[in-house]
Amino acid sequence: MNTPHGLGLALALLLVTTSHAAAQRNDVPRSDDFYDSHFHLTNYVQHGPDVSSVLRIMGTRVGRSTLFGIPFQQTWAYANSGDYAPSYYLDTDAPLYYYSFTDAWIAMQYRSLPQAAQARFEPMITGFNPADMYAAEHIRRVLATFPGVFSGIGEFSIHKEFVSSKAAGEGASLTNPALDSILTFAGEAGLVVILHNDIDRPFAKANVEPVYLTQMKALLRRHPETTIIWAHVGLGRIVHPAQSQGTAGAGAAERSEGQLGIVESILQDPAMRHVYFDISWDEVAKYVVATPQTVQRTAAVINRHPDRFLFGTDAMAPADSASYYAVFEMYAPLWRALTADASAKTRKGNFARLFDAARSKVRAWESAHATAER
Ligand SMILES: [Zn+2]
Repeated sequence: MNTPHGLGLALALLLVTTSHAAAQRNDVPRSDDFYDSHFHLTNYVQHGPDVSSVLRIMGTRVGRSTLFGIPFQQTWAYANSGDYAPSYYLDTDAPLYYYSFTDAWIAMQYRSLPQAAQARFEPMITGFNPADMYAAEHIRRVLATFPGVFSGIGEFSIHKEFVSSKAAGEGASLTNPALDSILTFAGEAGLVVILHNDIDRPFAKANVEPVYLTQMKALLRRHPETTIIWAHVGLGRIVHPAQSQGTAGAGAAERSEGQLGIVESILQDPAMRHVYFDISWDEVAKYVVATPQTVQRTAAVINRHPDRFLFGTDAMAPADSASYYAVFEMYAPLWRALTADASAKTRKGNFARLFDAARSKVRAWESAHATAER
């Protein structure tokens, strides 16, 4: 290939390869694809990989990630499952309980990393009971014990299919003042909040307002100073997107506007500028990519509000890169349907903006309160 002709051929080949790679990148980005706004290092029984192996899975495709455990521990009740050791909440009827040690575990995992690697993670506090008036005190104590570590709180849950009813003690509620004190404190300290709250009960009927919508909107409106990411757009495995059947008459249409309509009315409400949505979880992706129409309708809303959505995997204790990247790949049709700007912001820009701001605010809060708290 050392002749001028060979060189030309090599150049031509190189051009073909590069433009092919560029075309691929437009389809599904391949390098520095996303920042992960929703990532569980550990599972419901506190098992999971070391953060250093997660870093290997992230490689160059994922520049930054949140880092949290699960607020709950699944009890292994011998009377219930005998020698079978449950590892997921669906594995047994035994209760879940709040497991505060998760916060120390996450902090120590973070601290085990060299500084350059630490800069890629946003650790989150989750080990509190949102029905406990002392929960905010726990969060303050974690910040004081591990200064320089945490950027937010969550993912924690109020209403979550299968899970809420298994939590030991008083059920969490959107109207509990304990939750208000948590969100008020998060606003004061600059902590980003990732809140899981199903918008509706499982298998709800069409044309009926989702049961938790009114309470959720009131809660969000009470905390304009707090950055709140509503996880999974309020959906779940069997908490389906709210449906409105256009033919049911004007009265019915007023009662329910459909999931995307609900989301868009929140995005347009000036009293809810502090509210964001994450599209994490394969269970959410399944609704978005169900048909070409659902992809187009979802993309249209994100394109109109590109600053308000974040991608996350919702991976839990991933053992390999295939399971880690599955949700991102599932969303390939959505990535294609978004404008370049909306895609870049949903995959990375909004994460960077929210968490960069949180980092500096929380560090400032920590230094202002360092002596007072200890
Ligand atoms: Zn999650």
